[in-house]
Amino acid sequence: MGFADIIGQQKPLAVLRAAFASGRLHHAYLFLGPEGVGKHTVAVAYAKAIHCSELTNDFCEGCVNCHRIADGNHPDVRVIEPLSGKKEISIAQVRELERELNYRSFTGKRKIAIIDPATLLNSSSQNALLKTLEEPPQDSLIILIAANTGALLPTLRSRCLRLSFAPLARKEVAGYLQLRHGVGSADAEFVAALGMGSIGAALSLEKDDLIEKRRQWTAMLGSLKIKDYHGAMIAAEALARNRDEALKFLKWAASWYRDLLIHAIDNNSDELVNLDMREQIAQQSADGGVEEKLRAFSQSAGAAARIQRNLNRRMVLEKFLFGVVGGR
Ligand SMILES: [Zn+2]
Repeated sequence: MGFADIIGQQKPLAVLRAAFASGRLHHAYLFLGPEGVGKHTVAVAYAKAIHCSELTNDFCEGCVNCHRIADGNHPDVRVIEPLSGKKEISIAQVRELERELNYRSFTGKRKIAIIDPATLLNSSSQNALLKTLEEPPQDSLIILIAANTGALLPTLRSRCLRLSFAPLARKEVAGYLQLRHGVGSADAEFVAALGMGSIGAALSLEKDDLIEKRRQWTAMLGSLKIKDYHGAMIAAEALARNRDEALKFLKWAASWYRDLLIHAIDNNSDELVNLDMREQIAQQSADGGVEEKLRAFSQSAGAAARIQRNLNRRMVLEKFLFGVVGGR
């Protein structure tokens, strides 16, 4: 295990490794990109590469330093997150961090802080951190991790070298799921596609359950004919029983209607999310109008947002499925 085994993210890794090679590490980085695409993994890998006692400019995962960093108990490497039960990273945590960064490294290398997610620093914590970034303690390295910059002070951002992390390619996520989690190739492709370039999202989908649910949902949508409002009402009632399931259904439904629309244009496309269900896609794609499919595709995200805001689930799902059976 080393840099070469990290999935994707070749651009930010190239920048970090070049800094190693030239011996010129920045004292502060901002890792920016969607959830679950490897920002934290790369930050921890970088800390390991700095401290690894076996390899130079890479990490072995086997030495005592690599182990301690992986276990979160290396004296020179701190991961800062909200304390349990808290929603923010407090100013006390930032002051404590500043104190620690000012001590000499235990190993004669760098003192490293990974702040994840940096968006949970409140404004006074950010101001306290800004002082540290303006006068960085010798041999310190701070990595801020964030999905977006909205919550971060511009002055704080400008003190960091920004590295962008892109969503992963479907092939990369599917390969990872097969290799590390023993997922079969067709299932891995589907779960990866639904995860939209995020390993974190793909892993949270609970594959087996999702694949069984998908079978039920596909059958349910296939049985809803144009103007079958009664069928739509019954289906909405069933889906509404569980909030989590309702949200998963709507997320999947977007992928399903997208697939039906793509298939209608190109019946050989390999861009389908539900690539292993080509037969059902062909059937349902021929059923009903393009208008209903387009409506279902475009309304699924809005419906999910309304459920997340705790609006009445049955009514939200009913409206969505009425759109599906809408007809003229
Ligand atoms: Zn090592």
